[in-house]
Amino acid sequence: MQSTTAPPIPLQPATPTFPPSFPHHLPKIELHAHLTGSIRPATLHTLWSALPHPPPSLPDPLAVLTPTTRFDIKTFFPLFSTYIYKLINTKASLITTTHAVLTDFRADGVVYLELRTTPRDLGTGEGKDGYVRTVLDCIAEFSSASEEEQERNPMQTYLILSIDRRNTVAEAMEVVDLAIKYRDRGVVGLDLCGNPHAAPGDEVRRFAGAFARAKEAGLGVTVHFAEVEKDDGGEELRALLDFRPDRVGHVCHPGEGIRQEVLDRGLGVELCVSCNVMAGLTEGKDDLMRLARKPIECIFGPEKERQRLYEIFREFETT
Ligand SMILES: [Zn+2]
Repeated sequence: MQSTTAPPIPLQPATPTFPPSFPHHLPKIELHAHLTGSIRPATLHTLWSALPHPPPSLPDPLAVLTPTTRFDIKTFFPLFSTYIYKLINTKASLITTTHAVLTDFRADGVVYLELRTTPRDLGTGEGKDGYVRTVLDCIAEFSSASEEEQERNPMQTYLILSIDRRNTVAEAMEVVDLAIKYRDRGVVGLDLCGNPHAAPGDEVRRFAGAFARAKEAGLGVTVHFAEVEKDDGGEELRALLDFRPDRVGHVCHPGEGIRQEVLDRGLGVELCVSCNVMAGLTEGKDDLMRLARKPIECIFGPEKERQRLYEIFREFETT
């Protein structure tokens, strides 16, 4: 017999479901993307395959960087350095990888990208200047390539140059010189990156002059910040804050006092959640989201970009 009782009316509307492709359609702003850290293992494999005699110390990247391989902060950097320095060591490989990275970001719906890289001397006779120029040429070429792609996603890309913690003061100053020289071609900021164990304590203070010069020149400043716990009473983090950064990256282990200072200063925080968790910098339990700020407020690019992004997001909100 058929029941005459009407089914109960749910008190809450059903949770909307989104197709798995939904995140890909969202317009995205990427502010913490390392050029060499964004290369797919498949691209590294292509470069590796082209080596006439790959040494046994350099196995196929696809065999090492499998989807299930887990790295932490100690195992990641040596592997990263080995592959990057041995496979991206010519102008041609730099062009190939830069193009591949830009293609991936555009395909992922990134509408505004600040890519960062540490200038290297590739032995072409053009020094680190040639490295920066090559990356900027790739960005310019990519940005003007296909009209169809431009219409679909006119991704705007800017460049941040990184000082590696292992750099000397002279090397750091050379990075600042290059950043200033290429400002009108899209270099918007200066970064401090590299293995956080490489310069203990307040040794990062040796870069104070370099960052002061960048600020004076009007460049944005971001620093990798509190990626690992340090037993130095917060000395390194205070040194980094003295660089007057506009943004700080990771912020996994700042300690309560420094965390509050980051909030009080209103710094933009590049949370890098997936990297923090995948590299074991945090266990995913930290209250990182307390530090999150609206990314549009802390981009380094020109004001017109900020306006464009506000418009994109307003439009997205209403559709
Ligand atoms: Zn980083």
